[in-house]
Amino acid sequence: MAAELEALLELAQHDAAIREQALKIEGLQRRRATLVEAIAREQNEFLSHKRAFEELQRQSREKSREVDDLDAQIRADTEKLRTGLLSYKEMDALRVRIEHSRARIDQLEDEAIALINKVEEQAPQMKKAEEDFLKWKSKIDHEIAQIDHEIAAHTQTWDRLKRERTQRVEAVDPKLLRQYEELRTRYEDPMAFVHHGVCSGCNLRVSEITVERVRSEIVTCENCSRLLYVK
Ligand SMILES: [Zn+2]
Repeated sequence: MAAELEALLELAQHDAAIREQALKIEGLQRRRATLVEAIAREQNEFLSHKRAFEELQRQSREKSREVDDLDAQIRADTEKLRTGLLSYKEMDALRVRIEHSRARIDQLEDEAIALINKVEEQAPQMKKAEEDFLKWKSKIDHEIAQIDHEIAAHTQTWDRLKRERTQRVEAVDPKLLRQYEELRTRYEDPMAFVHHGVCSGCNLRVSEITVERVRSEIVTCENCSRLLYVK
């Protein structure tokens, strides 16, 4: 193989290595974004459950307080009825109020107990859901940290390869380099080898003459224009 073609092939292999690093970094970044999204989604779901449970706790406390308040009122009314200097009309009104309050407190107590039971029933589920979420999140956080580590390593390699590329470029004939760079805007692999008369870039057959010439000169594929070489 001609020395200038060899230098170009080395550059092409170098560019392929750079591209490989870039693809790895891209893949890792995509994976990372998916995980970050999953955490946000799971966290939202967990928080909405938690808020619903906290709302239930609040309702339960409120209902119990209502029972306590009404109970205190009944006691105060009863005491007033016993000791107060009231007119017959006032006493009658107070008795009616106490009667109503007693009927109401029974209903309120039932509601309060139902809410307390509901809270007690859901509390262990909520605790388990929180534990599960935190355990899962810590696993995912760990995976993200690992990905960040891998991205950093690949970025370092990518940087080094980019720097080394300058030297490889200097070794290539300028005219050939221009041709290569022009092809690189079209193809990820601007160089192709000929095997059994077929170009490895476009998988099409090249002419007999090209097959002959590729051994001694710099030729391009007549179909895809890639620079050709033989292995
Ligand atoms: Zn071709």
